[in-house]
Amino acid sequence: MKLRFSVLLLILTLINSFGHPCVAQNRPEYVLVIHGGAGTILKENMTPEKEKAYLKKLGEALDAGEQVLKTGGSSLDAVTQAILVMENSPLFNAGKGAVFTAEGVNEMDASIMNGKDLNAGAVTGVRHIKNPILGARAVMEKTPHVLLAGAGAEELALKEGLEMADSSYFFTESRWENYLKVKEKAEKHGTVGAVALDKYGNLAAATSTGGMTYKMKGRVGDSPIIGAGTYADNNTCAVSATGHGEYFMRYVVTYDITALMKYKGFSLKEATEEVIMRKLKNVGGDGGVIAVDKDGNIAITFNTAGMYRGYTRSDGERGIMIFKKTK
Ligand code: ASP
Repeated sequence: MKLRFSVLLLILTLINSFGHPCVAQNRPEYVLVIHGGAGTILKENMTPEKEKAYLKKLGEALDAGEQVLKTGGSSLDAVTQAILVMENSPLFNAGKGAVFTAEGVNEMDASIMNGKDLNAGAVTGVRHIKNPILGARAVMEKTPHVLLAGAGAEELALKEGLEMADSSYFFTESRWENYLKVKEKAEKHGTVGAVALDKYGNLAAATSTGGMTYKMKGRVGDSPIIGAGTYADNNTCAVSATGHGEYFMRYVVTYDITALMKYKGFSLKEATEEVIMRKLKNVGGDGGVIAVDKDGNIAITFNTAGMYRGYTRSDGERGIMIFKKTK
């Protein structure tokens, strides 16, 4: 009798697990969150045309990533596709439209991380890879390393057949004006990032940037540093940061958020608030993060006036915003 009951229980358990292949209860099938940089983004400084252009491009980036997730693709591919749209747009400080160093050249950084196995790849100081995020992914997938700099990263990109571009491709008039004005405190940053949860429960995060306007030659920010600008772990969450990189490195921001969840049991929202609105804000570290946790909860937290951002979920919830009001 006892044995029969155990067999019945086993059968019921098996049926249950086949019926719901690794999808946790109430978890949306997929989630994608993106950002296009945080900073002194004020409504009064924004023309309606410019605002419209940003909203449109953020929407396109969401569409590109969502298309991957909707058709059963991976979170890694989704964040890559979303970032590509923003890197190819002159509106954002990544790829085309990257800011200039003090010497007037572009030195770009990017990173990507897979929450499933904690594999990661990054490039820093690259000047000719058309899409630095693809360089970061090549480091992750084709080398035993995590971070390649300058010439080494570009050699890998060439070898992998990635599209290369001349310096003139990355040039935009508005970034150049910004460079000329920087001493008068023009906006110094703006980066792109994406985090996603796919239907298999895998998290991924990616970030790409030109860095900070007028940075010293060779300066490396947080964006290509795993644990500072980008982090993903299936046990906790995926995070991409934007802001004053030196602070994000010193406070190991994206890893700190996952650590608060892992070791202190914080919720995603509590963890992002603790790090961005308290730790960083108290020391004057401007910026913010986008994040999604393993259950599909979203956090978009920033201590600046605005942040280009958007999110979309499998249940149809979607939003694109620029100015203050955190989710
Ligand atoms: N965090 C980037 C850096 O410091 C810049 C930014 O996000 O705006 O390079």
